[in-house]
Amino acid sequence: MMKKLLFLLTLIIIISKVAYGQSVHDLGTDSAHFQIPDIPGYYTLKCDFHMHTVFSDGVVWPHIRVDEAIGEGLDAISITDHVEYHRKEVEDNHMVPYEIAKKHAEDKDLILILGGEISASRDHFNALFLKNTDEPALRDTLPAKRIAAANKQEAFVFWNHPGWTAKYKDGNCPRNEEFIELMKAGQIKGIEVCNGDGYWEGAHDLVQEFDLTLIGNSDIHGVSAYQYQPDKHRTITLVFAREKTVEGVREALLNHRTAIYQGDHLIGPEDLLKPLFFESLDIETEYREGTSLARMTITNNSDFDFMCENKSLFKFYNGIHFFTIKAHAKTTIIVKTLEQLSGFSLDLLVHNVLVAPGKSMELAITVEDL
Ligand SMILES: [Zn+2]
Ligand SMILES: [Zn+2]
Repeated sequence: MMKKLLFLLTLIIIISKVAYGQSVHDLGTDSAHFQIPDIPGYYTLKCDFHMHTVFSDGVVWPHIRVDEAIGEGLDAISITDHVEYHRKEVEDNHMVPYEIAKKHAEDKDLILILGGEISASRDHFNALFLKNTDEPALRDTLPAKRIAAANKQEAFVFWNHPGWTAKYKDGNCPRNEEFIELMKAGQIKGIEVCNGDGYWEGAHDLVQEFDLTLIGNSDIHGVSAYQYQPDKHRTITLVFAREKTVEGVREALLNHRTAIYQGDHLIGPEDLLKPLFFESLDIETEYREGTSLARMTITNNSDFDFMCENKSLFKFYNGIHFFTIKAHAKTTIIVKTLEQLSGFSLDLLVHNVLVAPGKSMELAITVEDL
């Protein structure tokens, strides 16, 4: 009798979960590789523009940076060893890490960008697309002169970890007037809004105010597998490029077509992240026969969990107004449209997609031809 009761109780729990919970079915994935869709008109390149090797203060040989990037499904990297600091055990030529990596990446599907970190003071800058990282002018005593030397090589310069506590004890990105002048002059074109786990709202403000390119990097010194596997990922910049080449990356950076993927959130402009949201999902909707309940099945083929809040007039039959469209899973929500309609719109606030400082993305899923 007791066994029968227990069995019945379990059955009721299972049935009620299926009937009333926002159901999620895991589709399984290759978790080692980034799985992020392209958007109309652009390739979505997964990039990390800030990392170190044994040639400065990192602990791995350049080969490893190339292999890690390919193993994680990155499209482009820049090895950015400190241009003024060289470990004494290795050759004193700042071009060497790039040359080693280039040779190793030769027949592999990876874009390698020559770069360096200008870091003689506590304010650091990365210069991408340099022609020569061994140029002495990059090591001048004044930050502005070092930045000018990088620009002379037609580099793309961005401000690194701008709220680093080694200099800014409150952990905030300051409004540094000297750097703001360089932003206005086009000498600093981007800023790391995210570096590793760090996010700086002040940097995000500067992006909006001075039309900078938003950058997010790992700044990895150690071994990626130890730091991120199995269930984390490094912070990366998504570059929306017309072509998968060094020039394609440069063109996109110059035109601010980037977003950041850090932890479980995305940061970037709405005109890029909205298409990324929709390209990540397949949405199918149909009415349950004889009811005004519209069953919406959302298949998410991307790595992103979208944490949503229902802001529309229509409520859900299964669950409350908060729900997550889980990565690599099918999520079902049942919308009470009160009568059978030929189409409707579901207004959502996507909490973990930040389109401006403190502002989450709003959008509408529009269903037609029901
Ligand atoms: Zn640094
Ligand atoms: Zn660094």
